[in-house]
Amino acid sequence: MILEGFPVGPMAANCYIIGCPETKEAAVVDPGAEGGRILRRLEQLGLTCRYIILTHGHADHIGAVGQVKEATGAEVLIHREDGKMLTSPASNLSLYVGMALSFDPAERLLEDGDTVTVGKLTLKVIHTPGHTPGSISLEVGDCLITGDTLFAGSVGRSDFPGGSHQQLIRSIKEKLLVYPPETKVLPGHGPTSTVGEEARYNPFLTDLF
Ligand SMILES: [Zn+2]
Ligand SMILES: [Zn+2]
Repeated sequence: MILEGFPVGPMAANCYIIGCPETKEAAVVDPGAEGGRILRRLEQLGLTCRYIILTHGHADHIGAVGQVKEATGAEVLIHREDGKMLTSPASNLSLYVGMALSFDPAERLLEDGDTVTVGKLTLKVIHTPGHTPGSISLEVGDCLITGDTLFAGSVGRSDFPGGSHQQLIRSIKEKLLVYPPETKVLPGHGPTSTVGEEARYNPFLTDLF
């Protein structure tokens, strides 16, 4: 499996490229900005992007959806409950930072437990609401891509419209920390971690306060 991530844009949102080494098909997760750079990296890796998968609909994760989609013809996938954020600058919060991002509706609305097939790879959709109602994490091999739900040593904000801290913590504890401790955590911002590290040391998940 080809899996690499790099931060894009002023908010340094992590964009991930997942590729099947046999078929050369790929998915791009959260093309938040710098579409040209994402497209160049796909080309360098010899990959054809079939899917653009969004962990949630905030502007810093969707900014280059249009550019990547136009260049590759990829289908856009987002959880049903964040679907409207693709088309509404007020919902995706871009309106409030002077960008007004809006794109075509998604080709596919995801649900908990759905799978996305990328060549010979199978990605599993885990609905982890709390940061936004339609936030998802993705199980990819022995990794979890966690968007703005779980970070190394921290958790996502829940003070945006539709957010819920209680729901966020429940999502993390019941749907992510149940993975084996060695499972890698690839978050939407900042460095990588593991499920074991977060279960043990993340101050938002231990019951110290
Ligand atoms: Zn976010
Ligand atoms: Zn973010």
